[in-house]
Amino acid sequence: MSDGGTLQSHREMGLLSAIFDEEILSTLSGHLGIGHTRYSTSGSSVVVNAQPLLENSEIGEFAFAHNGNLTNTEELRETLAPSTILQATSDSEVLAKLIVDAEGPMMERIKSVMQRARGAYSVVMCTENAVYAFRDPWGVKPLCVGTYGDGGYIVASESCALATVGATYLRELNPGEIVALDEHGLTSMQTDCSTVRPALCMFEYIYFARPDSVLDGQTIYMARHAMGRELAREHPAEADVVMAIPDSAIPGGIGYAAESGLPYVEGLIKNRYIGRTFISPNPEMRSRGVQLKFNPVLENLRGQRVVVVDDSIVRGTTTPRIVALVREAGAREVHVRVTSPPIKHPCYLGVDMATYDELIAANYTVDEIGVKIGADSLGYLSIDGLVKATGRERDVMCLGCLTGSYPNVPANREVRVPVS
Ligand code: SF4
Repeated sequence: MSDGGTLQSHREMGLLSAIFDEEILSTLSGHLGIGHTRYSTSGSSVVVNAQPLLENSEIGEFAFAHNGNLTNTEELRETLAPSTILQATSDSEVLAKLIVDAEGPMMERIKSVMQRARGAYSVVMCTENAVYAFRDPWGVKPLCVGTYGDGGYIVASESCALATVGATYLRELNPGEIVALDEHGLTSMQTDCSTVRPALCMFEYIYFARPDSVLDGQTIYMARHAMGRELAREHPAEADVVMAIPDSAIPGGIGYAAESGLPYVEGLIKNRYIGRTFISPNPEMRSRGVQLKFNPVLENLRGQRVVVVDDSIVRGTTTPRIVALVREAGAREVHVRVTSPPIKHPCYLGVDMATYDELIAANYTVDEIGVKIGADSLGYLSIDGLVKATGRERDVMCLGCLTGSYPNVPANREVRVPVS
């Protein structure tokens, strides 16, 4: 936070609700501020890498928060001034130091760094008297801006965050756009993106974004509902009921039920105090998380042939537990339907699936995966079906983890042909 004179910050490991008590919040005052919950995919999960990073530099103090991964961090690190001391191990700090090393007013500095930095970066930074936000030229991660109160502005990764604080959604930042929010209001600068194509992460539609967020004028809910409908057309099932794995698969499950004519039931109730299992840092925690996270509704499952709709199968550690839970609750058959295509390739751009070895669909066929997860049948949405459901053109999306073709990647990346 900044009151126009000094910056105050607070960073810790853990859940926001457990960290920011009244006492800590009372130390953070001012009319400018940024915040971030870090999902570590570059640099280890330790407090020194927690964000916002606080930089005390020759261009003044500033706080810096980054969503995404750079793909040319090492190349950029070598261009830093020899006197540069890095405190953290993340790509985010390299990006912040490059801005310090650059020349000119702040927006010109950011622009010059954006011309060299490859990968995914939606960034907010707070100086003593302004907040800056910028989005990489590919627009891999979302970033939007809204108005708040009397003359105020707010930027956020997802539009649902604006509604939560009573702000009004204005628009998405364009790929390659920089905005400054200060006493003069909002100032925008568009950097040159003519040499690259837009590539919004498809995983925002599949899993990451909250269903009430808006991307390209469409709520994520409606996109997921359409994915479920497409999936029902592509992979119908002889079944009695449809259920979805809460929460992110629910719109897809409702869409599948609507298209198939089967009743939608709540098969599992989620314990809302357990976090997302996919982003838990290790396999053991992910597996235990599933057991703690769901309770079956026996009356809805007993004796039924059940279609279980999930949003994705990444490592294949969660789905077998879910299938087993549904069977233990008395389901006669379990047919798994997935509202994403198989994830066959790693992500280099900020989603925690970094190697071929950890991806079940890179190593097994669909039939083999069906056996591994214990399902009576398994069907994935096609890439065409997914793209159609979003209402976007295929060539403005990143589909790298589905196709192996990325908008920007490290030159030395591993290339492997997955099993078909
Ligand atoms: S590779 Fe997949 S997860 Fe990564 S940015 Fe592209 S679509 Fe998103």
